[in-house]
Amino acid sequence: MGCLFCKIAAGEIPSQRVFESENVLAFRDISPKAPVHILIIPKQHIVSIHEVSNSDNFPFSELFEAIHKIAIQENLPERGYRIVSNVGEDGGQTVSHLHFHLLGGRALHWPPG
Ligand code: AMP
Ligand code: ZN
Repeated sequence: MGCLFCKIAAGEIPSQRVFESENVLAFRDISPKAPVHILIIPKQHIVSIHEVSNSDNFPFSELFEAIHKIAIQENLPERGYRIVSNVGEDGGQTVSHLHFHLLGGRALHWPPG
């Protein structure tokens, strides 16, 4: 199928990878909204966090371990950072493959627009 992030996970579309483990991949956002803007995805196709339930063997701990490691790798913990996962149209989701945005490197506005 035509999922952009499945193609990135398969290596069919190039990306600037910053982290990879068995079930998780992280790469730099092509249109960064902050000095550090990384997307963390499960390699498995899942539309959004809303589609995940406890009965799935979803790699929660692997994913959050990845976020933790990447934040350290990118020198973010001292100043802080933000994790965001947009869901659906009103949430601003434009790619229908679950991803967490890791944003940092400057003071981030709250609330978002
Ligand atoms: P969202 O709007 O939450 O669905 O986020 C999708 C993100 O994917 C946006 O921040 C885009 O800039 C980013 N994006 C789109 N295409 C690519 C690509 N080929 N490589 C890396 N990031 C991308
Ligand atoms: Zn996908």
